[in-house]
Amino acid sequence: MSLTTTPLTGQTDQHLCSATDAELLGARVHREVVKPFLQLKDEARRAGFDLTILSGFRDFERQLSIWNRKAAGQQAVLDSNAVQLDIERLSKKELAFAIMRWSALPGASRHHWGTDLDVFDAAARPEGYEIELLPEEVNSGGMFGPLHDWLDRRIAMHAAFGFFRPYDQDRRGVAPERWHLSYAPVATHYETLLSTDVIQDTIQNADIELKEVVLSHLDEIYERFVINTGRPPK
Ligand SMILES: [Zn+2]
Repeated sequence: MSLTTTPLTGQTDQHLCSATDAELLGARVHREVVKPFLQLKDEARRAGFDLTILSGFRDFERQLSIWNRKAAGQQAVLDSNAVQLDIERLSKKELAFAIMRWSALPGASRHHWGTDLDVFDAAARPEGYEIELLPEEVNSGGMFGPLHDWLDRRIAMHAAFGFFRPYDQDRRGVAPERWHLSYAPVATHYETLLSTDVIQDTIQNADIELKEVVLSHLDEIYERFVINTGRPPK
């Protein structure tokens, strides 16, 4: 599969659902994710939650723009506690790795796959509140904590229709992201296909900041930020 046809790196939308389904869900997702998400949403509704997608598929250009803005100091780069870093003090490697705590390397984002979703409880969002996707929103005690406590129980019971949390805890790679769900039946397969070679070709061909430092640390990046994730419960 060439880079422009693979569903792995965000450079095609051939694997995504129809426009009608995208409108129904409020986001573009992988076509195989529509049914299980609606099933999970239905169960959530019975429990009093309005499970809603904030962000589903994200294409390569969008991820590249986030990356380049952060690398150029036009968008905040946050530390592990979500406090803004002074990027002038960082080496190029430190900067790239700091960005990857919260934003995936373009071409290596699970959001490219359409299998991964950032979710919230629309029934618990105060009117006019702009969701930031910060830990205090989703932790137990936060406005979306009850939804996520419920999701944890469903996932543990194998009753989440294939969804699980790849960023459930701090593995010193991507920061814990309780809002991020992944659809295991497709995502697990895509993860095995996404090799360092695929990422290397993608980065090599991109107009991306920090290209040299990324290419020279690709194995470490892959181990720490790409495959270093939680697994569906056995
Ligand atoms: Zn996410």
